[in-house]
Amino acid sequence: LNIGENMSFKVPDLSYDYNALEPYIDEETMHFHHDKHHAAYVNMLNGAVEAAGNLEGKTVEELITDLDSVPEAQRGAVRNHGGGHFNHAMFWEIMGPASGEMSAELNTALLEAFGTLDDFKSEFHKAGMTRFGSGWAWLCSTKGKVSVCSTANQDNPLMGKKYGGCDGKTPILGCDVWEHAYYLNYQNLRGDYITAFFNVVNWAEVSRRYSETL
Ligand code: MN
Repeated sequence: LNIGENMSFKVPDLSYDYNALEPYIDEETMHFHHDKHHAAYVNMLNGAVEAAGNLEGKTVEELITDLDSVPEAQRGAVRNHGGGHFNHAMFWEIMGPASGEMSAELNTALLEAFGTLDDFKSEFHKAGMTRFGSGWAWLCSTKGKVSVCSTANQDNPLMGKKYGGCDGKTPILGCDVWEHAYYLNYQNLRGDYITAFFNVVNWAEVSRRYSETL
């Protein structure tokens, strides 16, 4: 995430052009999503960290995995906006114009857990479709064993269960199912958006994240 100590959090630049994910994710959505929505999470997170006074120098991952250490007055803001920053920074990285190569290790783990890759995609699609309101669908790994879950709002699997997480599992792939992620292009058709999302997954990056959980 390129976040140094004693620096305010920043929205990371995309490593590809705003129109690079077309026709699956359109340029206008990418501009609003990256430049406006993600920036708002970062601004609110920076405000909460400054107000808390004792959180300087922590990474956003450290903040969201240990919300108990955040002062109660800022905990809700760090949960929502720290989650928002972490989730989106990951989202930009696990997508790309080139799908990259899925590692043999991740391929094997997906087949062991779901039977076929199509069965995995169908589970993931269902997780996104059945998340009522706003949230995320996730593929997670716990020491190499993969599973699908979803979270509400900007919660992340890394957050403890009491904060809406999936028991501290490590997310390696996430799909934003907030309406702001798809409404300009897909309107109410969330299912079409999730199906299209698979065309822009950067499997090399997902595989790299998977290998770090082994
Ligand atoms: Mn979003």
